Amino acid sequence: MSYVYDDQNIFAKILLGEIPNDTVLETEYSLAFRDIAPQAPDHVLIIPKGPYVCYDHYANEASDPEIVDFTRTIGKVCLMLGIDPVSGGKGYRVISNTGKNGVQDVQHLHVHVLAGRSLGPMLR
Ligand code: 5GP
Repeated sequence: MSYVYDDQNIFAKILLGEIPNDTVLETEYSLAFRDIAPQAPDHVLIIPKGPYVCYDHYANEASDPEIVDFTRTIGKVCLMLGIDPVSGGKGYRVISNTGKNGVQDVQHLHVHVLAGRSLGPMLR
């Protein structure tokens, strides 16, 4: 299986420091930053620093430490934002738009963390 990573995509430019971002958390393998067009009071994007497009690509080519770090970063961001139910927060939604049907605009793997308001039912 071959994957085509567009190294000119916006998140690649953010990782290279060519576009500024509002960083929430940076780790060895991941970056979390606020979405430029927030859909909720808290809207954070979490990306791996590696050049991965979709989950199959990621699962096949990322190292175990990268995958562990990415998952932990999502949890840490939720804790930092005070939205995690375990620590008394009101909860959140994690979404990953992937591919054409998923309407993925930026061709670099990412998850959206949305919180700060009731998000309603996911599927209508
Ligand atoms: P997708 O549709 O690919 O899941 O979402 C891409 C997200 O990236 C969108 O929510 C969009 O607002 C966000 N975005 C696009 N360009 C920028 C940018 O330059 N900076 C930040 N922080 N977010 C961006």
